[in-house]
Amino acid sequence: MDSMVISQLIEIAGEEFVSTRDDVLVAYSSSASMAKKPVKPGAVVKPETSEEVASILKIANKRKIDVTIRAGGTSLQGEVIPKPDGLVVELMRMNEIKLFKELRSVTVGAGVTYGQLDKFLEAHGLWVPVMPESALGCTVAGNVAVNGAGPGSSLFGSTGEMVIGLEIVLPNSEMIQTGTEANPHAPGPFFRYAFGPDITGLFIGSLGSLGVITKVSLKVFKRMEHFDYNTYGFDSHDAAEKFLMELKKNDVNMVFASLYEGPVLELFMDMLGDEYGIPPMEWPERTISMSIGRVRKDMLESDAKLARNLCEKLGGKVFGIKELPAGEWDGRLWTFIRACYAHGWHWRTLYHHQTPTNAHRSVEEISKVMDKYGFLGHTAGFVTGHASTNMYPHLYFDPVDSEDEEKIVAAHDELASTLYKTGAVPFKLAPFWEGLMEGTETYMEFLRQLKNAIDPNDIMNKGVMGGI
Ligand SMILES: Cc1cc2nc3c(=O)[nH]c(=O)nc-3n(C[C@H](O)[C@H](O)[C@H](O)COP(=O)(O)OP(=O)(O)OC[C@H]3O[C@@H](n4cnc5c(N)ncnc54)[C@H](O)[C@@H]3O)c2cc1C
Repeated sequence: MDSMVISQLIEIAGEEFVSTRDDVLVAYSSSASMAKKPVKPGAVVKPETSEEVASILKIANKRKIDVTIRAGGTSLQGEVIPKPDGLVVELMRMNEIKLFKELRSVTVGAGVTYGQLDKFLEAHGLWVPVMPESALGCTVAGNVAVNGAGPGSSLFGSTGEMVIGLEIVLPNSEMIQTGTEANPHAPGPFFRYAFGPDITGLFIGSLGSLGVITKVSLKVFKRMEHFDYNTYGFDSHDAAEKFLMELKKNDVNMVFASLYEGPVLELFMDMLGDEYGIPPMEWPERTISMSIGRVRKDMLESDAKLARNLCEKLGGKVFGIKELPAGEWDGRLWTFIRACYAHGWHWRTLYHHQTPTNAHRSVEEISKVMDKYGFLGHTAGFVTGHASTNMYPHLYFDPVDSEDEEKIVAAHDELASTLYKTGAVPFKLAPFWEGLMEGTETYMEFLRQLKNAIDPNDIMNKGVMGGI
């Protein structure tokens, strides 16, 4: 990268926070995503304030330098892989947390992880109840940028539902604030839908291609203290899906309900079973691992009883294995990270949403692709919000086998296209879906025009948002 640009970056962020050292560039060339080859950037800069971010973007815009915004680097679909000789702007130093107790809201800087936020809020008896499974390493702003979801979503919906307002630095270096805080006299964040259209929503899921989210304001809730953990087995996907719908209809407060096929649970238990004290067993066709949570104990008891009754009414079996849902819920800050990487495999994933009655279609489609291409794979999912099941199919491959690598791309494209035809929708519009969502041409063109209007020099995360 041009030495003049480096000097300007040093002037903004300080010498310690700008690097062109090869080992540093190598570290920033990849992410948790094993699906994309590493690309070395030209420099890394780590701003501390929104003003520094604005000054950096001003230079990048003027010099038309490709910018990749990076936070925890835990994204899985290649969203944070830089451009050759581009600039990585890493936001982890922006770690301020401000609580507005009486407004039931909190504002966090772009570098605050869920782990940090949860620890802070716990001391006040509060929480933000939706977290991704990567909560320890990923930032709140990063999860907003990818349109995330995770434990807590079964009751409270996606991460976006928690957001009240954003502070954003636009590619032209101008700064905007959305939600009630756009009024400089507002005492803090208290409502999102202010000042006309939902500009907050435009940046949720924008994958760092429309601007930098420098602060996120979120709803906070009284922390639940009463939980019921249980597992429920069904001999058919149909009965398992009906069970989940009945729970929703009856307002059972499932904070997290995961849906597994038998062989997938065997695979997971092979990694975690001993530690959890779950003996080897034959898992049924479908297992639902569920945490019910309530602020009040009497309500919890009533919900737990109803869940057991509904399960039995639908021909299911209440297993009473608590360790699995408890591990998913209480241990969500670390359980999944290890489980995903335990065997040292490489995998590609295609996050998507299915309707509650269609989760099995994701299982069927990945099975067909596994058979056709000879890959190992699986899919699991969890209930998300009002009427959706969030599915995450994985295809495993051998990264040192170049033939395997070529085949995995073809298999993945085929999977994206067939999943889409089952009615599934991507909730992270990563490049994996590019050109595979027929019927969305006008929508995608509109998105392209929006990107052009906001980022006319196309410096921000080019090609990442569904190829835009
Ligand atoms: C084991 C494991 C489990 C996971 N489970 C889940 C899960 O349950 N739910 C889920 O949603 N995801 C999950 N993920 C994926 C990943 O955690 C999320 O994508 C996460 O939110 C990314 O946050 P991050 O801070 O690591 O962002 P990064 O990976 O650094 O960036 C992600 C994207 O957001 C952009 N970005 C980051 N910060 C900003 C910002 N402040 N402003 C603008 N753009 C920004 C980047 O440019 C990039 O496009 C999982 C990942 C792993 C490794």
